[in-house]
Amino acid sequence: MSLIVQKYGGTSVGDVERIKNVAQRVLATRDEGNQVVVVVSAMAGATDHLIGLARQISTVPDAREMDMLLASGEQVSVALLAMALHELGCTAVSMTGPQAGIFTDASHTRARISRIATERVMDRLGNGHVVIIAGFQGRSETDEITTLGRGGSDTSAVAIAAALKADCCEIYTDVDGVYTADPRLVPEARKLNAISHDEMLELASLGAKVLQSRAVEFAKKYSVPLVVRSSFNTAPGTWIVKETDQMEDVVVRGVSLDKNQAKITFLHVPDRPGVAATIFKHLADQTINVDMIVQNISEQGKTDVSFTVPADDLERSLRVSREIAGLVGAADVSANSDIAKLSAVGVGMRTHTGIAAKMFGILSEAQVNIAMISTSEIKISCVIPKHQADQALRLVHNGFGLGAGENPAAEN
Ligand code: ASP
Ligand code: MG
Repeated sequence: MSLIVQKYGGTSVGDVERIKNVAQRVLATRDEGNQVVVVVSAMAGATDHLIGLARQISTVPDAREMDMLLASGEQVSVALLAMALHELGCTAVSMTGPQAGIFTDASHTRARISRIATERVMDRLGNGHVVIIAGFQGRSETDEITTLGRGGSDTSAVAIAAALKADCCEIYTDVDGVYTADPRLVPEARKLNAISHDEMLELASLGAKVLQSRAVEFAKKYSVPLVVRSSFNTAPGTWIVKETDQMEDVVVRGVSLDKNQAKITFLHVPDRPGVAATIFKHLADQTINVDMIVQNISEQGKTDVSFTVPADDLERSLRVSREIAGLVGAADVSANSDIAKLSAVGVGMRTHTGIAAKMFGILSEAQVNIAMISTSEIKISCVIPKHQADQALRLVHNGFGLGAGENPAAEN
């Protein structure tokens, strides 16, 4: 008998019909002779709706009360799913995160799971129940309800699978799996059979919203077999696996685009020790998340320093930057939101050379100007004009042979 953890996202439990459909799937898995633990998100839109209500009352709602509010979304979907299973004659019981023994630290609205006390879940499984657990939530050691940050149900599912030593963790969502690129932007994109943890982490942090990064980190750390599949069909999905030597044969596993970026430039700052330290210390103090940084060659003792921030933070970042400009003696601060970050990811970059040159070549042929570049061992990112980004993404994708009929890592 296998123990399987299944996680269903918000769209998969978006209405009553879909909840009934999930119940059928859960029952089918149980009837194959497995023990099943189900983790669910709030019904699609429910969390956003709750946040909207809070905002109508307060611009800075108390974080503890926010968690009290947000945790209610998942409580609705677990109870409804349990009822749907009962209707099918299946013994099932729902539990909140705290009831399921999920302990977290005390940082409200972005808590991290610290331990899971599995007795209650194991006990019910042993009695033949399907156990349905509310994702995205837990309790602190002082018995406060906490939530794990947006998209946190993925992390709940993988952490529960790790704690229960489940045979696998299946993440059911509204896409078939992980693709070589966003299929809405690149029609030639293909579904991957498998992707390594590190590649998935890079793609997740680059804006591919298939899985929460924390979930992938957990899966890697605790070796949880993890698969992303659609809840609307029976396609096999994409496995997120431990890296193998063979995986390096494919140089680029996937490409991604992040259009949620903006660039700020400090113009003509004195080129002397301490300037960068001052700028980025002040930004960090305001919890502004800086991504790429580029400093120009200095001319006559002055230089330009540019960096990217999330587009949502642009206003705030500009305000802070203008204050810092005076401190460091910059002539001016400028902003540009017509930018996007295009990235190529693949563990094969560790052993192959010339990948960056090839990417730059594809972009130059298409007359796309590169404003910034950053690399890691398995990733190359270029900041390019946003208005050319979709076209550039497709060219880079196909240029690296990820298109139809060419990609040995993808499925037909
Ligand atoms: N309901 C939460 C959210 O919308 C958690 C999740 O869906 O994973 O972010
Ligand atoms: Mg979600």
